[in-house]
Amino acid sequence: TTKNTHQSSKTAKLAELDKKHFLHPASNPKAVVDNGPAVIFAEGKGVTVTSTDGIEYIDGMSMLWNVNLGHGNQELAEAGNQQLSTLACTSQFKAFSNEPAILLAEKLASLAPGDLNSVFYTSGGSESNDTAIKLARFYWELKGKPAKRKFIALNNAYHGVTVAAQTATGLSAYHHFSGSNIEGVVRATAYLLDSEKGDKNAPNYESSIRATIEREGADTIAGIIIEPVQGAGGVNIPPDGYLQAVRQLCDEFNILFLADEVICGFGRTGKMFGVNNWDVVPDMMSIAKGLTSGYGQLGGVMLNDEIKQTISSFDAVVPHGFTYSGHPTACAIALKNLEIIERDQIIGNVKSMELELKKGLKYLEEKHSIVTNCRAIGLLAAFELYEDPASGKLFDPTVFPANAVVDACFERQLILRALGAHNQIIAIAPPLIINKEEINKMIQIIDEAITAFKETLN
Ligand code: PLP
Repeated sequence: TTKNTHQSSKTAKLAELDKKHFLHPASNPKAVVDNGPAVIFAEGKGVTVTSTDGIEYIDGMSMLWNVNLGHGNQELAEAGNQQLSTLACTSQFKAFSNEPAILLAEKLASLAPGDLNSVFYTSGGSESNDTAIKLARFYWELKGKPAKRKFIALNNAYHGVTVAAQTATGLSAYHHFSGSNIEGVVRATAYLLDSEKGDKNAPNYESSIRATIEREGADTIAGIIIEPVQGAGGVNIPPDGYLQAVRQLCDEFNILFLADEVICGFGRTGKMFGVNNWDVVPDMMSIAKGLTSGYGQLGGVMLNDEIKQTISSFDAVVPHGFTYSGHPTACAIALKNLEIIERDQIIGNVKSMELELKKGLKYLEEKHSIVTNCRAIGLLAAFELYEDPASGKLFDPTVFPANAVVDACFERQLILRALGAHNQIIAIAPPLIINKEEINKMIQIIDEAITAFKETLN
């Protein structure tokens, strides 16, 4: 599709309505009112999405790291249509149930590691993390340890924007927004491998999870929440041994390990779940996003047998649940999504495309001296932009290098995302169905965008 810079009258009309009536999530409201929406999407197919002006973009982020089977998947649409026209929505409160929710729960139990054999459904990732925190506290109450209420969360973590999830989020703008935080969340520094293994002389030991447990007292701590690979915090991959060390800490101090698999789950990292990369079995697992590839709004918290059995001993109504907890249409879509992931060996494709993407990143790093810290695990990748990587010199804060390169990519019809406290990180997370030619096209566009950015610096 050739680029058409002319804005159609339909687009202009929609843009006016958008400016007037649509307060966008995670957007600059003044910029939207001044300039209108950045793009209005009209359709999607495979790894591409097309605007109302007929401009086709490569979706290098799977939108919000979630459209894992790509756009326009007719089997997912059909699974949704079929359930919608049979029985679209039911209540699951007061022990009502439905077939897709039951079958999906069984399927999830078969896929999840260890004895994570049960699920509490939600409508998305934030709700899953709020639910996990509440259920963990409830679990400890039932175990006769109501003082175990605190959660340890890491710096640079992103766990969502509902109030408990926002509190656990370690990105300062999100964490502080509206002053809406719950009590009892304690922050620790990510990836202090030696400290977590018990080396008290390791650098920054005091801010490690281990030191935090010692300081706060294990009998006050309900759980630790961790993304196996941090996403919005900058695509940060833990060192080997780190998640195992955290698992050991949790066992040693009788603390629940809550893995936030909202991005990592369902193949993104080249394994079914992020924790599978390190053979770690958490006690609870938050899932969403790739569960339906974005075709339905569905999340969940998976629970191990001990937690499920303990909660199941409670003989009264548990006052927690969402209208859409176990929504049959969303669950039917998720079932089809998981069927396709296995049938089409999507994770095998992720592994081979990871190699292509790494090759491409290496090419960019060799060609452009400002590119550094390239990393990928499955199709979860990033690179960084420094004025001088060798000396660790960042660009001047007024430059916003990642925004500049992401904008230059967008002009060239590739969607990526800028991250990082210094606006120095660019994330790449394409649909898991991407092929070699499409990866190479992305790298070619990034190459051109970096070249264009460098020219603006002169
Ligand atoms: N947890 C992680 C790791 C995420 O990346 C996200 C969203 O990006 C969330 C939780 C929140 O999910 P949602 O936006 O569906 O509420």
